[in-house]
Amino acid sequence: MNQILSTHELEKTLKEFKLAGMVKTLDLRLKQAQEDNLGYSEFLALMLEDELNSRSDNRKSRLYHQAHLPFEKGIEDFDFAFQPSIKKQEVLELATCHFLAKSTNILLIGQPGTGKTHLSVSLGLKALSYGKTVLFSSVWEMIQKLHESRADFSYQKKIEEYLKVDLLILDELGYRSMAEKTVEDFFEIVSRRYEKGSIIITTNRSLSEWDKVFIDRTLTTAIVDRLMHHSTIIEIKGESYRFKKKD
Ligand code: ADP
Ligand code: MG
Repeated sequence: MNQILSTHELEKTLKEFKLAGMVKTLDLRLKQAQEDNLGYSEFLALMLEDELNSRSDNRKSRLYHQAHLPFEKGIEDFDFAFQPSIKKQEVLELATCHFLAKSTNILLIGQPGTGKTHLSVSLGLKALSYGKTVLFSSVWEMIQKLHESRADFSYQKKIEEYLKVDLLILDELGYRSMAEKTVEDFFEIVSRRYEKGSIIITTNRSLSEWDKVFIDRTLTTAIVDRLMHHSTIIEIKGESYRFKKKD
């Protein structure tokens, strides 16, 4: 049997079956099988493992790209000593991602530069590492997209994008006030995810100021009720990290 040709043919067949993980390691594994005298089942087990690993890596990188995180910074990059109002243990508990199973929410409140986005991204990365689906968006971007989607009748489809993920991270609530119609869109997302899927919200506004963001009092109460019913609130009272003196 012509070894080179048969390897080539094997590769072709593996490709036809979309076994890309096996294609990648075939040469190496064949060599290993010869050199180390691997048994047939041992060889097959290794190849199957390669395929599984490759699929799992592909899924992870696909989920990572779909999450649209603005940067990649983990909990280990966060300097808790700089922000003593944050209870490190509480954040570490959240980093176990048990909150996702309970569909509870997290609210990060604090002035600009206090690490709200950083912490939300860190929790997003943790969720991804557990194989969960994540979507990061600024509140403004989500509102804009939902608004635009009304124009081309893709509203329901767009809404689904924000509902289907295990974790929705909405950044920067309160930087801009909303128009009445957009508040309704925001409410739609919050109420439909209520007790079904977690939301992390970052904001520079304390809860008492939310009626300024959502304008309508009744809707504000409805939004706050649903978000806060099962939630962890982390209020960061400290300086901006951007002004941190270099030491
Ligand atoms: P916010 O969203 O609250 O405005 P960010 O999370 O964007 O603040 O933080 C601003 C910058 O400072 C980011 O680069 C972030 O990684 C960094 N940063 C903020 N707080 C900390 C911290 N405690 N330790 C390490 N880096 C921090
Ligand atoms: Mg931010």
